[in-house]
Amino acid sequence: MRLVFLGPPGAGKGTHAQVLSKDLGVLHISTGDMLRDSVKAGTPLGLEAKKNMDDGKLVPDKVVIGLVAERLERPDAHMGFILDGFPRTPEQAKALDEELKMLQMPLDMALDFETSLPMIIRRLSGRRLCPKCNKNYHVHNYPPKKEGMCDVCGSTLVQRPDDRVEAIENRLKIYKEVTEPLIQYYKTSGRLVQLDGDIDVAPLNIILMNLFREKGLCRK
Ligand code: ADP
Ligand code: ZN
Repeated sequence: MRLVFLGPPGAGKGTHAQVLSKDLGVLHISTGDMLRDSVKAGTPLGLEAKKNMDDGKLVPDKVVIGLVAERLERPDAHMGFILDGFPRTPEQAKALDEELKMLQMPLDMALDFETSLPMIIRRLSGRRLCPKCNKNYHVHNYPPKKEGMCDVCGSTLVQRPDDRVEAIENRLKIYKEVTEPLIQYYKTSGRLVQLDGDIDVAPLNIILMNLFREKGLCRK
């Protein structure tokens, strides 16, 4: 199973990718998580990316394309993968197609989580993140067992700098201008499936699993 998740910030891509990758035994490749890891580790790449990320701007194509290519070339990518947050520009989409062609691992589908603005705002403003293991929570929809604390590792949860209102506006604007056209790119090549991203996690998970069965991508 080789999938791309498209949709605006707050569409639930990361949440669904987190759940599905575990249930289906495929990799969850989140460029946002990879970049945040580099920021935390203080690598030169991370230091350069941080400014853009905090403002809600995109990190240069060359940087993210390199990160993803390196990840896809590791042997465990043969298990299958969900790409969450990549591609985000036409250049990234083309680079991905070339990389997957070279690896002889063609994409099965691009899923677009169509999500309304009020839902996006509600989800992003309530989002909390474990800075240690990258697990996502939501103060109402998906709270941790103990308030403010990660269920997995006990770290104190934080709000992402780019979930501030000004940064959210930037991210939505960039999404509309640069990323949304990718929907047409995948539609034209017959690989697009559109879903209602406003639906809650549990019912949408059922819809997704049925879709995967229907397409012969999963026997569970
Ligand atoms: P969200 O989808 O909620 O906006 P992500 O965690 O996917 O957030 O990404 C956070 C930030 O990391 C983005 O705003 C951007 O700065 C950077 N980033 C992640 N993926 C990419 C990408 N494919 N291309 C460019 N920048 C990216
Ligand atoms: Zn944690």
